[in-house]
Amino acid sequence: MSKPYVYVTRKLPEELLHVLSQTAEVECWEETDKPVPREILLEKSRNADGLLTMLSDKVDKELLEQAASLKVVANLAVGYDNIDLEEAETRNVIVCNTPDVLTDATADLAFALLMAAARRIPEADQYVKKDKWHGWAPFMFAGADVHKKTLGIIGMGRIGTAVAKRAAGFDMEILYHNRSRKKEIEQDLGVKYAEKKELLEKADFVCVVAPLTTETRGMIGKGELEQMKKSAYLINVSRGPVVDEKALIEAMQNEVIAGAGLDVFEQEPIRAEHPLLKFPQVVALPHIGSATTATREEMAELCARNIAAVLKGEKAETPLN
Ligand code: NAP
Repeated sequence: MSKPYVYVTRKLPEELLHVLSQTAEVECWEETDKPVPREILLEKSRNADGLLTMLSDKVDKELLEQAASLKVVANLAVGYDNIDLEEAETRNVIVCNTPDVLTDATADLAFALLMAAARRIPEADQYVKKDKWHGWAPFMFAGADVHKKTLGIIGMGRIGTAVAKRAAGFDMEILYHNRSRKKEIEQDLGVKYAEKKELLEKADFVCVVAPLTTETRGMIGKGELEQMKKSAYLINVSRGPVVDEKALIEAMQNEVIAGAGLDVFEQEPIRAEHPLLKFPQVVALPHIGSATTATREEMAELCARNIAAVLKGEKAETPLN
């Protein structure tokens, strides 16, 4: 009997897919840095029993409709807003993501972004590298304090909780807003629940870590930015569309808030001419929340194990449906 066929939408190191190669015939898209063109993804998925996808690949109704033999999709991300989960479910396609293995790396990055925005680290780095530094000055690159300030976390899940743990080490007061109340985390970490408005009004740093869903799309818009303190910073490590970018540009122009640290954008990749990139008080990163070598390796291996399990008729480790 021939082996099942799995298409991987980026070139990944062979050793990470070892478990999968034992069970299936594995083919990878030839590029590491560029996404597979849509036509090729559709063509390959037509015969695929499994797909290992990236967050930049749309696994939508069109794809699922014509992928008659598809049994499993493993997404190299914890977020799965690129996948039509409902449609997959009606077609008995198991969808898997990569929770937990990326929690700490993403929380580290969220905190790094917060620090970078508050202490103006990218600006200061460029100042030195561009040979503009000619002497010490009392208020040169004076930024905002982080320690003992108030952090507001929107989305108190795995990553939100890990961000709170880091903030506790900086003696920050921590407020959170979440779909459901997390009494255990409140007790363990001493964080306080707040309605979104109260959190926005009180926080010096607002960190968004909720998933992109129909409810969270645009959840930080003009009104929410206006509720924030003029001295506050917005940190977004969730998904771009959770923040209304047009409103954020206006908020920067009108100095409604002090700055922002953004790992994600409405349209990725963001281009250099994007209005948000003109503001020195905006720190922008190319969606690298979980990008440490060790974490990305674990994510790839988890995806490989998930696909192999489903194709062998076993239960996946981290199924969403
Ligand atoms: P998680 O454990 O599922 O946490 C998400 C939290 O958001 C949950 O506590 C959930 O509440 C809450 N939530 C959902 N809808 C909400 C709403 N409408 N209002 C308020 N809170 C809401 O997920 P995670 O592992 O922490 O990951 C969170 C997100 O981070 C992912 O979905 C992904 O988009 C993003 N992410 C980004 C990167 C990056 O590279 N920048 C890396 C990893 C993850 P309940 O407890 O009630 O369900």
